[in-house]
Amino acid sequence: MTTLHTLGFPRIGAQRELKQAQEAFWRGESNVEALHTTARQLRQRHWLLQKGAGIERIAVGDFTLYDHVLDHQVLFGALPARFGLDVANLSTEDYFALARGNAQQPALEMTKWFDTNYHYLVPEFDRHTTFQLQPATLFNQLSEAQALGIPAKPVLLGPVSFLYLGKEKEANFDRLSLLTDLLPLYIDLLTQLAARGIDWVQIDEPILGLELDAAWQQAFFTAYQALAAQPCKLLLTTYFASVAEQLPLLKDLPIAGLHIDVVRAPAQLAVFTQQWPAERVLSVGIIDGRNVWRADLSQKLAQLKPAAGKFGQQLWLSSSCSLLHTPVDLAFETELDSELKIWLAFATQKLNEIKVLGRGLDHGEASIANELAASDHARDSRAKSPRVVNAAVRAARQALTTADGQRHSAYPQRAAAQKAALKLPLLPTTTIGSFPQTPDIRRARAAFKRGELDQHSYQQAMEQEIRFAVEKQLALGLDVLVHGEAERNDMVEYFGEQLEGFAFTRNGWVQSYGSRCVKPPILFGDVSRPTAMTVAWSQFAQSLTDKPMKGMLTGPVTILQWSFVRDDQPRRDTCLDIALAIRAEVKDLEQAGITVIQIDEPAFREGLPLQRSQWQDYLDWAGFAFRVSASAVNDSTQIHTHMCYSEFNDILPAIAALDADVITIETSRSDMELLDAFGEFAYPNEIGPGVYDIHSPRVPTEADIVRLLEKALAVIPASRLWVNPDCGLKTRGWPETEAALAAMLRATQQLRQRLANA
Ligand code: GLN
Ligand code: ZN
Repeated sequence: MTTLHTLGFPRIGAQRELKQAQEAFWRGESNVEALHTTARQLRQRHWLLQKGAGIERIAVGDFTLYDHVLDHQVLFGALPARFGLDVANLSTEDYFALARGNAQQPALEMTKWFDTNYHYLVPEFDRHTTFQLQPATLFNQLSEAQALGIPAKPVLLGPVSFLYLGKEKEANFDRLSLLTDLLPLYIDLLTQLAARGIDWVQIDEPILGLELDAAWQQAFFTAYQALAAQPCKLLLTTYFASVAEQLPLLKDLPIAGLHIDVVRAPAQLAVFTQQWPAERVLSVGIIDGRNVWRADLSQKLAQLKPAAGKFGQQLWLSSSCSLLHTPVDLAFETELDSELKIWLAFATQKLNEIKVLGRGLDHGEASIANELAASDHARDSRAKSPRVVNAAVRAARQALTTADGQRHSAYPQRAAAQKAALKLPLLPTTTIGSFPQTPDIRRARAAFKRGELDQHSYQQAMEQEIRFAVEKQLALGLDVLVHGEAERNDMVEYFGEQLEGFAFTRNGWVQSYGSRCVKPPILFGDVSRPTAMTVAWSQFAQSLTDKPMKGMLTGPVTILQWSFVRDDQPRRDTCLDIALAIRAEVKDLEQAGITVIQIDEPAFREGLPLQRSQWQDYLDWAGFAFRVSASAVNDSTQIHTHMCYSEFNDILPAIAALDADVITIETSRSDMELLDAFGEFAYPNEIGPGVYDIHSPRVPTEADIVRLLEKALAVIPASRLWVNPDCGLKTRGWPETEAALAAMLRATQQLRQRLANA
């Protein structure tokens, strides 16, 4: 019999119950007990759901109050000393201080989990890092699961990935040197799990999908040899990429089973079917854990047959990766039309797909005839639907030439034209786009959406918000203003809703970080722009001031990256379709008198393939798509782009090749470390390194910002330096926003004066 298992389930709850509970707790409106009660209820609901779906080994330990990588830092007692916390007596407040920062300390750095839009908190390692096992949280969850009769398979982040995903906080220090200290704790933990009746443990080593150097490869060997000294059977899980290249290493590891992702990397199934030892478990990630399309079960079943033939009992089935990256339940989508709905499967439906495939393998196709027929019907209806194909879009994409991705003149000429047109001071100040989304704003948007507020009243309400934001900016003395994005719920959804080819869920939330969730649009067809999307708001905002009002768009790569993208054509083609739609919007903005236009691409880096050998191809088409969106304007129109929460050092040439006139970029959390790379590379255009971390409730002081600007001025000429926060301000309140921006403007004044006197 095939064993069905899960690698992880979304934590947030079908109605984002976790978010409500976290935020109520942070606001002081509830207490620790209430928070933990909600957390426990969610865990239990999700376990029982999986059990009810016939899943035979259920992930336990995948739940977290904020982030599972942070939980591992707690589990192994590896907290940065700067917080001064006692890991053995860590309160829930302490835990959140690590995640969110507090008055004394900025939060842990946050970065993207591989090529997903999930963000984890980066462990900080130095030569003083020590480990201390703190398994209470995990054990409590395990006891809860066991009390409910859940067949629990604890999930751990493996020791090598844990170290790899962290960051060295000290020069001349190699975090891999911590492995020797860390391994005994894994052995201790696994031994204690065995004593609690656990036989199999899932140990995630997703970095195996990266191109690892010899030292890290060797670390796998060292680590897993050492782990042989514990009693549990280890299912080593890999995902997001092929690990076929690592096959010799994997075979050498004393692991009882291996999980591979055959959705992202289908070709590796044949390799492992042939070469993975039959006496070990092969877990095949056959159902897409990263997307929302209903599986073609006939095709999947055929794909699995050779592996089933060889591995028999030793074949396990699951999703490609944790279901964390998919929304919880399609059943809540009461407003999706029925044609589209049958093309889709969310986490709950995916459990069922796993079950059906297991039954088909164990009992033959006849036993799942109805399910196969339904799946075939869905596949055929999607392939043939006229909603998917738009001939004009395809023609425009095919007609694109290199010239469509080039501005009329090179940056130096454009800079001169912009200087004359915009008349900005030295060290121009700006913000990234959004201003606080107050309860009033949310209420008005929600009422409009529900039809309770008519178009006219809604427009008035939004214009009032825009006026408010503009007045605040004028009072603060910012140079390039923004309208504040009050009308936008989400930077991708807002555009997707106005473009053809996208569908929207009511409740298709996916966790981005902590309590933040996103509801990615479902990009199912050829993309086109029926009408202008942002022009009226920008024009209104511009009418309130003589200062430049920055138009605000989301770029094609980010729209692609943060949507659930169709899987029936290359991502590149889909991205170019979006680029053409944004290009038309950019032209309309320019026509309407908007002279500065920002095209946000926070997800640009996230789209990089995990394996470096495939980077260039991606950077070429993604860069071209951005330039297609940005290049139709006059020299005097200034194009900004914005990127955040990624390491950019290694793709600086590609970022420069986007040829934006100005890039605003997140750097403050890493103390401007990133800027050294920009300096070394001699970034040719203007740059606004974020001077404070908007994700922290801590208000920066003038001195903090002066210090960061001094660092920036050491590598960027003053004539090309901008001053701005490191991201949009929509998650903050007005009082802190004003205080922080006031500090930013005072710091800018100070430096302008200093530069004038120099
Ligand atoms: N313009 C967007 C904002 O300010 C950018 C958000 C982002 O970078 N994620 O909200
Ligand atoms: Zn940002």
